[in-house]
Amino acid sequence: MSQALNELIDALKHLPGLGPRSAQRLAHYLLNHDRAAAKRLARALARAAEVLVHCAECNTFSETPVCARCADPARDRSVVCVVETPADLEALDAAHVFQGCYYVLMGRLSPLDGIGPKALGIEKLLARIARPEVQEVVLATNFTAEGEATAQWLAERIAAAVPTCKITRLARGVPVGGELEYADPATIAYAWHDRRALIDQQS
Ligand SMILES: [Zn+2]
Repeated sequence: MSQALNELIDALKHLPGLGPRSAQRLAHYLLNHDRAAAKRLARALARAAEVLVHCAECNTFSETPVCARCADPARDRSVVCVVETPADLEALDAAHVFQGCYYVLMGRLSPLDGIGPKALGIEKLLARIARPEVQEVVLATNFTAEGEATAQWLAERIAAAVPTCKITRLARGVPVGGELEYADPATIAYAWHDRRALIDQQS
């Protein structure tokens, strides 16, 4: 086989979820299907790998040492919302409910994939939260088993490192437009436990 083709397959097979056979299929597809698209992909990948760094503040991908969102003086510096991925950050930000700062873990605890506390590296997050202006951390990891375990573990670490910081978690519940009849029992149970007062009766 051609050495160039071998090198391509070898590079592809290190991608998550791609074994040797699927790497081979993908390499053949890229070269066979649309050569211009393959070149565009190669250029975009080379450029992204060259220019992107992790934002010094929120850890997401950025072309500048501090990303535009973190540099925005209008952001509330007293609240830091922790998410798993840049995609989660964008989804939350699109809801326009939160004007504070973010921190992107770039993953979650996942013992089966070999991602333990060390691999996740939360020293940067703890240093970020230890700043005097930070009063609340919102743990917005996903509501999967791994996301929940990550939130629990983070809560313990943050409470130990920065005892004055308030730690909250997003509520879980029935989706907007959802009907109870169609919700699964676990979702209903969570919605029940996270129920809130509808009218503030303090008298
Ligand atoms: Zn940032």
